[in-house]
Amino acid sequence: MTKRPFVTKEQLEEIVKEYPTPFHLYDEKGIRRNAQALKEAFAWNKGYREYFAVKATPNPFLMEILKEYGCGSDCSSYTELMLSDAVGISGEGIMFSSNDTPAEDFQLADRLGAIINLDDITHIEFLEKAIGRIPETISCRYNPGGIFKISNDIMDNPGDAKYGMTTEQIFEAFKILKAKGAKEFGIHAFLASNTVTNDYYPLLAKVLFELAVKLHEETGAHIKFINLSGGIGIPYKPDQEPNDIRVIGEGVRQVYEEVLVPAGMGDVAIYTELGRFMLGPYGCLVTRAVHEKHTYKEYIGVDACAANLMRPAIYGAYHHITVMGKEDAPCDHLYDVTGSLCENSDKFAVDRHLPKIDIGDLLVIHDTGAHGFSMGYNYNGKLRSAEVLLKEDGSTQLIRRAETPKDYFATFDCFEIGKKLVK
Ligand SMILES: *Cc1c(COP(=O)(O)O)cnc(C)c1O
Repeated sequence: MTKRPFVTKEQLEEIVKEYPTPFHLYDEKGIRRNAQALKEAFAWNKGYREYFAVKATPNPFLMEILKEYGCGSDCSSYTELMLSDAVGISGEGIMFSSNDTPAEDFQLADRLGAIINLDDITHIEFLEKAIGRIPETISCRYNPGGIFKISNDIMDNPGDAKYGMTTEQIFEAFKILKAKGAKEFGIHAFLASNTVTNDYYPLLAKVLFELAVKLHEETGAHIKFINLSGGIGIPYKPDQEPNDIRVIGEGVRQVYEEVLVPAGMGDVAIYTELGRFMLGPYGCLVTRAVHEKHTYKEYIGVDACAANLMRPAIYGAYHHITVMGKEDAPCDHLYDVTGSLCENSDKFAVDRHLPKIDIGDLLVIHDTGAHGFSMGYNYNGKLRSAEVLLKEDGSTQLIRRAETPKDYFATFDCFEIGKKLVK
């Protein structure tokens, strides 16, 4: 299968006249189509709600688009809470799924009326101290430990993850919370990341639904919702088969009918906290080839760097690259595509077969719509890029301007750009 960008070379040549490279470009049409498909896939569940994982792409314009499809937001920090509030998402529209949480963050979450998802049993006391009581609606994060497998494939290693409570702890936590006045309960777990299989959610659902039945039986707690969290992946590589959200929704429905309905728990709402699945494929990093270098390897230097997209540098993650205008040219050159950081890991591709790249060529780095811009940083004094929305009618909107040196200097109160120390 070939991976095609959502934008044509002709469109992009117009766009770069207005916004200099590098920048992240988002596809409104794709975002809307996907959000609608997710909504339909879980329409069988009356209380269903997607809480978009804000950390994936913390942009208010994109959050507003998702809000039109009923999405709330999943936050894990003070500023993410502020961001949700700013776009008019508050109350039970916010899921506060954080860990190692500061007291001020719990306090703001509580002021906004967010649902608080506790990562640890010790957070019960911590929360009570921070906000002066236990909320009536509360959720606990579960970690079953061990290794999470689908058939014989190891999906992830929850036993090694810092998140969530053990089985014993979650039973204990429910009892304590109930005694302290909690009335409505939720369960949350995130056991595997970027799963490119339709089986992950149904399997996770089975684990959580069975746990919910036992928790209800043993503690008498009313379970209002089960939060399947994030983890539905996207096909970063051209040979990967994309997930089918309708199949996933139907798979979860079957487990629901099998486990929850017979236990008299057919009123449980299903929540999700997807990030990558919501926006990943609908964003790309647009960059230009500015240098070529022939030493022990062939290098193409582009004007973006790991500060714009960190995943390849930190995880060796694959991001597909299209050389615009050469979509059908033979991939008969072997390149490392590099950024300009003084870090040898700053490579968007290593030993990648690509068409011959000429200086000035526009490159599209695919699937940067989630965990792309948001992981950016200022190493080497690099400035964060702009984010641009390609709207459904083909026009563009600047949804975040690029940083300037002024932004870089903003946190040094005693310095002004171009001047010496002005203490
Ligand atoms: C990161 C995260 C998500 C979203 O994960 P994706 O892989 O983007 O779907 C959801 N919930 C929590 C608690 C997270 O930390």
